[in-house]
Amino acid sequence: MTLFVIGKPIKHSLSPLIHNYWIKKYQLGLEYKKMEVEKESLFSLVENLREGKITGLNITLPYKRDIISYLDKVSHTAKDIGAINTVFIRGNKVYGENTDGIGFTRALEKKTKFNFSNKSIYILGAGGASYGIISELIGKKVAKIYVTNRTKQKTIQLIKHFKTKNKEIKLEFVEWKDLAPNSDVDLIINTTSFGMKDNECIKINMNNLRDTLIFVDIIYSPKETELLKLFKKEGFVCMNGLNMLIEQAAVSFELWFNISLNNKDIEEVKNICEASY
Ligand code: NAP
Repeated sequence: MTLFVIGKPIKHSLSPLIHNYWIKKYQLGLEYKKMEVEKESLFSLVENLREGKITGLNITLPYKRDIISYLDKVSHTAKDIGAINTVFIRGNKVYGENTDGIGFTRALEKKTKFNFSNKSIYILGAGGASYGIISELIGKKVAKIYVTNRTKQKTIQLIKHFKTKNKEIKLEFVEWKDLAPNSDVDLIINTTSFGMKDNECIKINMNNLRDTLIFVDIIYSPKETELLKLFKKEGFVCMNGLNMLIEQAAVSFELWFNISLNNKDIEEVKNICEASY
């Protein structure tokens, strides 16, 4: 039996390395593979899962939204975000979940003991990952979230999306050309894909930042984006996207196999991933 991560492109996915390590460790006798697919294949893949020919699926770009229409049930979180990254079976129903947000918060809590309650967060990006993280941050009762994105309309859309669900949420629009976080900001998160190519860097005015600020870039390849290097150079605590990738994978693994992975499982896989690229 097999599990797949599906997307296009899929060549660089670290998910097979992560899941196959845990599958072997827990002697599940399965294999996790990557598969580049066209949109037309989504229906048959979900049917294969329903018929027991596949054990589980991870969904990555560009199908996180498209897959929803083929599923029987979608979790509250995934519905809130409008994107799925994990598909699994319960009884005879096919379920969809999004584990990105919880992966992010778990990773940061474990690495830095960060307590989200009442904190001010500054988010670059208004794509799928941003929605997932913001949904989780709202659940953690942060005080305020600033959001900025290259395409202004998408920032406005994101703020409207979350405000419609809860008017009390403090979400503040920031112009992309005016990136100057104030000293009230506790955490800056880059959720854009800007920085995946060499030598790209977003310009941020760092003059007002507090010493205790934490910077997270959810990109894991390269290991250090130009932006992360810049924050590191200024002495801020930084985290790249690898911890998030592994934590969100651990949540998927639990949904498929009902096995709750411990910190040793997480650390072992992290070392393997770090050595692999
Ligand atoms: P997405 O939905 O396609 O969103 C892409 C985001 O990046 C948008 O905000 C987009 O802005 C912005 N962007 C792209 N190119 C840009 C550029 N040249 N300048 C400024 N902004 C740019 O993708 P996603 O799912 O949110 O993923 C975003 C990144 O997060 C990817 O690098 C992905 O690998 C990473 N990620 C990591 C994890 C993890 O576990 N570590 C999980 C999920 C995602 P516009 O709206 O203006 O296009």
